[in-house]
Amino acid sequence: MKKYFYLILFALLISCQGNSQENNNNKKEYSLVKTDSEWKSSLSNLAYNVLRKGATERPFSGPLNKNKKEGTYVCGGCRTPLYKSQHKFDSGTGWPSFDRGIEENLEYDVDYKIGYPRSELKCNTCGGHLGHMFKDGPPQTTGLRHCINSAALNFISKNEK
Ligand SMILES: [Zn+2]
Repeated sequence: MKKYFYLILFALLISCQGNSQENNNNKKEYSLVKTDSEWKSSLSNLAYNVLRKGATERPFSGPLNKNKKEGTYVCGGCRTPLYKSQHKFDSGTGWPSFDRGIEENLEYDVDYKIGYPRSELKCNTCGGHLGHMFKDGPPQTTGLRHCINSAALNFISKNEK
């Protein structure tokens, strides 16, 4: 019976690949759901455009790009912990960069916004767009670079509760 279930799951996965990203988004149910106007009123303009509309902030513009304090980076939409300061590195790209995230709280999706597929990173609790993942991170650790918009994150320093 279990085998059968996996076969069906596999078939479903294959048949979904042709669908647009929007369809996939509609299928996923997040534990935190708000209407568009609720998001708009609870976020700054920039955070709303990044988290809810998938925009990208200008490089070197975000306040967390150069942040080197110890602490945790949480989702700007729902405060789910997403990244730890010890995994942040200076990639020189102008966006906060991490070699790994708090995996269970991240969702990996694919976006085709610029014509080819990119690994999109989202908050697994509210579906907020965070940034993208690339394979040019530090080779001595994971080799991955989570390129994250400062506007999608809030920082909680170690000494703060
Ligand atoms: Zn979130």
